[in-house]
Amino acid sequence: MSLVIVGSIALDTIETSTRSVSDVPGGSTSYCALAASYFFPPQIVGVVGEDFPESVISLFKDHHIKLEGLVIEAGKTFRWGGRYAENFDDRTTLFTDLNVFANFNPTLPEAYKSASHVLLANIHPGLQHHVLDQLDSQAFVVLDTMNLWIDTAHDELISLMKRINMLVINDEESRMLTGERNYGKAAQKLRAMGPEWVVIKKGQHGALLFHDDRLFTVPGLVLDEVVDPTGAGDTFVGALIGYLAQSKDLSFDNMKLALVFGSVLASFCVEALSVNGISYLEESDLEARYDEFVIMSQF
Ligand code: AMP
Repeated sequence: MSLVIVGSIALDTIETSTRSVSDVPGGSTSYCALAASYFFPPQIVGVVGEDFPESVISLFKDHHIKLEGLVIEAGKTFRWGGRYAENFDDRTTLFTDLNVFANFNPTLPEAYKSASHVLLANIHPGLQHHVLDQLDSQAFVVLDTMNLWIDTAHDELISLMKRINMLVINDEESRMLTGERNYGKAAQKLRAMGPEWVVIKKGQHGALLFHDDRLFTVPGLVLDEVVDPTGAGDTFVGALIGYLAQSKDLSFDNMKLALVFGSVLASFCVEALSVNGISYLEESDLEARYDEFVIMSQF
């Protein structure tokens, strides 16, 4: 078993109604890989500039994240800034400075090409195609994307759907892709585009899993305080595929557990700024929160 994660690695600026931080660790790969690492050591592919903090590299190493596919280029790291409204539901992008990420051309090291699980974290669909072109193996491929690519790289995204096993998407993106507000109809249309598994995330309201004629719903945990929702979706999908790689089981029942562990990690993510909420968690932390999901879902 091996798990490859390809996406963005960034330094983020985050503004909420009570806090403001700049140049903190971010990017889809950072969140996905840290979350996955609680279940299975991921191999990442990404690019950063010479200004990328050594402390974040150490954090990745402490989490047993394999860095052979991480390229450090002359120049500055990708920077992204976002500002949240008081309710945390609305986010405005303040800036996107691509820097070294502008020329990112993901190249898989030889050892990555036989991956059993691949997470195409949020990057341009053209680059996601390029990753799949390099694989020697029949991997289980999970795709994450964003509204930007649905708008600007629609055709590449649609052709990518035929090459993946699972799509993980939020409710707004699912509406954009299918024109459907009804989750069942949207999932049916998304599955007709290619993936046999579809997960629709509903933010703080949980997530839905669709496969054949089966449906599973994982609730959202009601948290005392949300500090920073950045990367919650990436964290969810990272933990999900990490759990799948660890358990080597693609049954529907196991997929339910993968969604629950995705939700467990995402709940930790939003409780602290940047990646702090998912750094250095203990197994007992995960178990306690897993139990909260079990108790909340029993009737
Ligand atoms: P999320 O909160 O799940 O939307 O993910 C937020 C993360 O996505 C931040 O850490 C950003 O650095 C990263 N990000 C923002 N825009 C892009 C983009 N166009 N491509 C890749 N990653 C991005």
